[in-house]
Amino acid sequence: MTMTEPSGRAPAPGPLRLVQEFVNTLDAEEGRDLLADPATFSAWLGERGLADTGPPPGDRDLAAAVELREALRALLRVNCGAAPDPRASALVNRMSAEVPVRVEVGSDGAATLRGSGFLATVLAAAGTAMLDGSWARLKACAGPECEWAFYDRSRNRSGLWCDMAVCGSRHKVRAYRSRQRGTLSP
Ligand SMILES: [Zn+2]
Repeated sequence: MTMTEPSGRAPAPGPLRLVQEFVNTLDAEEGRDLLADPATFSAWLGERGLADTGPPPGDRDLAAAVELREALRALLRVNCGAAPDPRASALVNRMSAEVPVRVEVGSDGAATLRGSGFLATVLAAAGTAMLDGSWARLKACAGPECEWAFYDRSRNRSGLWCDMAVCGSRHKVRAYRSRQRGTLSP
């Protein structure tokens, strides 16, 4: 399963890629939301081998998935310099108290977080990245109309835009205009 990144950036490594792809089920710019109906969500899960054997996702599953997705996006905004959103961390904490995430220790003594079911799998992937430090590189683009999740491989982790040529230059234009109007740039 390859993912097209708008800037040609490489996707996030390991299980964190699932979090990235999940957050990017919403493409705000294109107005595409794969969680808008159960059929597209099911297809998305199926492509990743994550479809449960039980009934297809219902309205409540969709609503929970959207809640988690947007809480994760809020956490990824923080990785791009936004102020922490206590509601986002509270939602993640509440959800992970409700779904089974477990520690699995291999014969080599290495521990892995694993989840049963889709939400738990995403939470386990996010938790693993938070513990190993790779989380800080996954960011929600600072473009207010974009917020696409991208993985910042730059040495000093200074990236703010999914694509400098698109969201970065838009920001420059906005900043320039607001300076011309004599107002502070947003
Ligand atoms: Zn962007």
